[in-house]
Amino acid sequence: MRVEVDRERCVGSGTCELLAPDVFEVGDDGVVRVLGTQPGPADEDAVRDAVAQCPTGALGLPG
Ligand code: SF4
Repeated sequence: MRVEVDRERCVGSGTCELLAPDVFEVGDDGVVRVLGTQPGPADEDAVRDAVAQCPTGALGLPG
C-alpha cells in the first residue's frame, strides 16, 4: 500500500506513530515521516486507523 504525508498539514501530534509505530515517526523537527519504503500488508489495518485518526488530515491513501 502507498501512504502519502502532507508535511505542511502535520502538527506532530504523534497519533499516527502511536497507532502504527512501524510505519510513522515524528522527527526532531516535529513533523512525521514514513519509515522505510512503504507499509506492507501486515501494517495495513494500523495505517488505515492512523489515516482516519490524524487530527489534521495530513495522511492519505491515494488510489
Ligand atoms: S497523526 Fe497527523 S498530525 Fe499527528 S503526527 Fe501523524 S501525520 Fe502528523
